[in-house]
Amino acid sequence: MFGLHKRLWAARPVKSSYDAVIIGGGLHGLATAYFLARDHNITNVAVIEKRFIGFGGSGRNTAIVRANQRTQENLPLYKEALDLWPELTRELDFNLMFHNCGNLNLAHSEAALKAMRLQVASAQFLGIDSRLLDPKECKEVVPALDISGRPRYPITGGMYHPPGGIVRHDAVVWGLAKGCSRRGVHIHQGTEVTGIGFEKGKVAWVDTDRGKIRTPRVLNAAGGYSAGIASRLMGLRLPISVLTIQAMVTQPLKPLLHHVVSSGAYHCYANQTLKGEIVTGAHMDPWPNFTTQTTAAYIKHQAEFVTEFLPCLKGAKFMRIWGGLADMTPDMAPIIDGHVPAEGCFLDCGWGYFGFKSSTVTGRYMARYMATGECPEILQPFALKRFQEHRLMGETAALVDYSANN
Ligand SMILES: Cc1cc2nc3c(=O)[nH]c(=O)nc-3n(C[C@H](O)[C@H](O)[C@H](O)COP(=O)(O)OP(=O)(O)OC[C@H]3O[C@@H](n4cnc5c(N)ncnc54)[C@H](O)[C@@H]3O)c2cc1C
Repeated sequence: MFGLHKRLWAARPVKSSYDAVIIGGGLHGLATAYFLARDHNITNVAVIEKRFIGFGGSGRNTAIVRANQRTQENLPLYKEALDLWPELTRELDFNLMFHNCGNLNLAHSEAALKAMRLQVASAQFLGIDSRLLDPKECKEVVPALDISGRPRYPITGGMYHPPGGIVRHDAVVWGLAKGCSRRGVHIHQGTEVTGIGFEKGKVAWVDTDRGKIRTPRVLNAAGGYSAGIASRLMGLRLPISVLTIQAMVTQPLKPLLHHVVSSGAYHCYANQTLKGEIVTGAHMDPWPNFTTQTTAAYIKHQAEFVTEFLPCLKGAKFMRIWGGLADMTPDMAPIIDGHVPAEGCFLDCGWGYFGFKSSTVTGRYMARYMATGECPEILQPFALKRFQEHRLMGETAALVDYSANN
């Protein structure tokens, strides 16, 4: 960690003023800082991180990327995000290990297939490659699947999305930090934002445990901690519940799984890393929770369920388990807004378990929003007021029965 820190990004003294302060050294914060510098020449920017960059969901996720969301508001953002990985790999001169191996979401009922049909149609309408497969075709894509009548929930079909896949999450954190640092952005790790000050209806400063910093712009990109920061420091109550998500990896195995496979009915998903380990994750723990502790119940659930549809994994040893926080909104879409509750205050949070795949592109648009003060059209549907106006998005519906499709 410290070696990387020296090589990739510089440690600089905290200045008394910046043109923008970003709370949270996760991917959303780092990407916004990077694009503020790259696209808008705003380089006098500080990313303030309480622990270390990637400490939150950005360093704990299962690295799945895809663009086959359900709604027309979400699809374009995720599509652009998918297209951005190769470009960023070149530009950051850092191997982000984008592997577009494809995602297969399994259906286990007629109702799930019906919902998938709608999701596939929405994706295709926007030019995104997404297809409905029958069980035999699913098996052709993933030979290890059990498509017989044996499993508790037999497979009735699947939604196949060839351009999706995996990106190495740590590499994205480090690559963006490197890009930020080279463009003059300051990254202050081990520094906590403890207050936000306002003058005449505008943001004027942030308080940190290393002193006061004057700034006209603040972005709350604190992931699982963003709702707490909004309520304590911004006076804003966000409709966010914080839940734990756990994930595990097995011992390395010979190559057997060349796609990301997920099943909502079983609440789990799996893919094989380049090292051969099977990474497997599940839906969130069902109770609001700020801990990242892991549970025996989860290990049992995961081992039982992943081997239901991938029986060849029976007997594989789990090597490591971890947990992270998911900032869930009621419609499973993020809250992206600006000038709330005061001019210069920006929000990029509520990503739940979708915030890795969207991070870089959201950072690019968020940077534009912060630089110009105008909300880019693509971000407008995600404003906080949708909850007051009862215009919730339909992403939750996309997750019925096949919800574990990170
Ligand atoms: C197990 C798991 C699996 C997941 N799998 C996927 C997946 O496959 N695909 C996908 O797209 N998404 C996935 N996600 C979700 C994804 O990881 C998150 O949505 C995303 O990382 C959020 O990024 P962020 O930058 O908004 O927040 P974070 O990465 O959480 O960063 C927020 C940062 O803010 C810092 N902070 C908090 N308070 C303060 C303060 N007062 N001052 C300064 N800093 C502060 C924290 O220390 C933290 O580092 C998963 C999440 C988990 C936990």
